[in-house]
Amino acid sequence: MPSAPCDALRRQGYQFFSTTSSAALKPCMWCKRALTGGDMCYKHQFYGIASHRCVQMTPTLRCNQRCRFCWRSFEHEVVEEEECSPETILAGIPRFQKKALAGYNAILDNTVTPERWQEALDPRHVAISLSGEPTLYRQLPQLIDLFNRKGYTTFLVSNGTNPEMLARCNPYQMYVSLDAPDKETYISLCRPQDDYWERVKESLALLRSRRSAVRITLVKGLNDFNPEKYAALLQESGSMFVEVKGYMYLGYSRKRLVRENMPEHELVRSFAEKIAAACDYRIKDENVLSRVVCLERVK
Ligand code: SF4
Repeated sequence: MPSAPCDALRRQGYQFFSTTSSAALKPCMWCKRALTGGDMCYKHQFYGIASHRCVQMTPTLRCNQRCRFCWRSFEHEVVEEEECSPETILAGIPRFQKKALAGYNAILDNTVTPERWQEALDPRHVAISLSGEPTLYRQLPQLIDLFNRKGYTTFLVSNGTNPEMLARCNPYQMYVSLDAPDKETYISLCRPQDDYWERVKESLALLRSRRSAVRITLVKGLNDFNPEKYAALLQESGSMFVEVKGYMYLGYSRKRLVRENMPEHELVRSFAEKIAAACDYRIKDENVLSRVVCLERVK
């Protein structure tokens, strides 16, 4: 991996598992907040995941889409890399998480209790969701199996463009993104390298038989229409959960979108209600701060 992008991302807090690959972790804001006794993220509310014991990582920063709402930088694009082995990633999880959280050490920060600090050093959950498309990492099934064997729960978040790879993966919960009600919107908003629309639909069809969720990132004015088309796609998918989440005007997405593309929670909620009214899902929960509504399958 070239060092310039790597250096820029390192300055943003990325911890790389090796010098030749883009596999990295970076604790999210909620991990740090929970560590200091603050709120946990909506994944705690919806699924019971303790934020201070959660590792946000990716086995690759490469991606085959350029979603306009993505908060990663396309300037720091990784084109080629030497993949890190699953064993190297596994071994690096506690080490790099500790390094990334070092400033929060209980000895230095009296808002962090010794118990919480010890728990944070022994993470129990891995969210394969940092950035990039994880299914482009060739050893993803082996990596997840290794996490499973070591007792981590895993969330795998994919853009759905690689159904063959997804079918081989067995995370605790599998996410597929659905960010458009139709192919034309998908092409213009997610800007895939090729027309992957049918492949995304194939990935959605994999969700029926497992613990799963569809993630819809709602961008005001760009994909917040045709709820009945989303509903039809969700109905087909059979996914256990659906998260309708408002786009957040953060990171590099600010170069591509404007603040007005960020929907208020009321809009997210009413759009989720319209989807639920047109398929076999009902509202399970919501988190106003994160502008997210969780639907669950009822049949
Ligand atoms: S698929 Fe994910 S990582 Fe890739 S561009 Fe879209 S939001 Fe970013």
